Amino acid sequence: MVLRGVADPAAAEALAGRLIGLLSEPLSFGSEQLKVGASAGIALLGRDGDAFDGLLRAAHAALRAARERGRNSWQLHNEDIQRQSRRRLEIEHSLRGALEREEFSLVYQPQVSLREGKAPGVEALLRWHRPAGLCHPGEFIPVAEQCGEIVRLGEWVVAEACRQAVAWHAAGPDFGRIAVNVSGVQLRDRGFAERVVAQCQRAGWPPARLELELTESALILDSDSLRHCFQVFERHGVQLAVDDFGTGFSNLQYLSRFPVQRLKIDRSFVADMLRDSNAGEVTRAIIHLGHALGMRVVAEGVETVDEQAQLARWGCDEIQGYLYTRPLPPRELAQWLRQLSAEPAPAGWTTRVVSHGH
Ligand code: C2E
Ligand code: CA
Ligand code: CA
Repeated sequence: MVLRGVADPAAAEALAGRLIGLLSEPLSFGSEQLKVGASAGIALLGRDGDAFDGLLRAAHAALRAARERGRNSWQLHNEDIQRQSRRRLEIEHSLRGALEREEFSLVYQPQVSLREGKAPGVEALLRWHRPAGLCHPGEFIPVAEQCGEIVRLGEWVVAEACRQAVAWHAAGPDFGRIAVNVSGVQLRDRGFAERVVAQCQRAGWPPARLELELTESALILDSDSLRHCFQVFERHGVQLAVDDFGTGFSNLQYLSRFPVQRLKIDRSFVADMLRDSNAGEVTRAIIHLGHALGMRVVAEGVETVDEQAQLARWGCDEIQGYLYTRPLPPRELAQWLRQLSAEPAPAGWTTRVVSHGH
């Protein structure tokens, strides 16, 4: 929308608010009620840009900021947004060719079973070593998703994790499955499931010992392509976990139909559960829900023995967190696994020293 003769930013904001309010009124469509929403980013000529392209870019950046804050809101472009969008652009730029320059590596964090205390799963986590220093996945993954680079990057992660798993397996240290994080963008990319299976086969790693961690938002669209992916995964025994469970809005109906074997309780619940009874109740409820749906439940971000003990009392199946170790480079993780199998379990778990990680 172009507004002419806007007296001041507040006038543009007021109009955006009115439009959003009007658009969010439910519409009747036959017997159905339809809900439409809108968000707005606002850029002002002269202040945020002098030419069409720049102004549109500024409005887009403001729109992104509005959306990140939630639905049905608006945002004026400002310096903060400009800084963020410059940073995004810079990251997007240096992501190009970063794979070829071998700037990525994987670190690994064990997921330990509370009962058996043996052969844990291992989650692969991506690290980007930019010439300027380490860039956090929380910062570059959303950019890679947005520009589509995540598809190539994610393929590299699967290939590298499988290669590493085969190497560990050959060298001896005992572990169950290898888990990799998968973004919704990858899941929607045509042929994704087939490529995952092919990569396992190429590396010589059984697909049944690969687990993909998906977020609730990736599962929210019950589309044909998603169902197709699930069929391929089921056929080959690839396991699925729902990551950060409790932070999105899962459709429990879908969840019960999807071939998901594991729920991962988001770190934020675990961090608060001992001092906040609400977080505690939610944690407990997720454990029950998972079990009721025939899934195993993993708690992530476990940092203390007390948290571990409480989770064990609530019947949580597996635990991941700094209590055992931070994510480690391959060689150190192999050592960790070796030490683990040499130790009597599970009493040894609770006394384990926290090692330094990456
Ligand atoms: P995530 O999948 O939820 O991974 C767990 C994050 O929690 C990791 O952060 C891990 O280092 C951290 N963590 C583990 N234990 C503890 C603990 O006890 N306390 C605290 N405070 N933190 C703990 P990291 O490695 O920085 O990864 C951040 C996120 O980036 C991941 O969250 C995941 O969503 C994303 N990510 C990482 N690697 C990949 C990847 O290969 N592909 C995709 N699509 N996303 C990835
Ligand atoms: Ca994960
Ligand atoms: Ca998580």
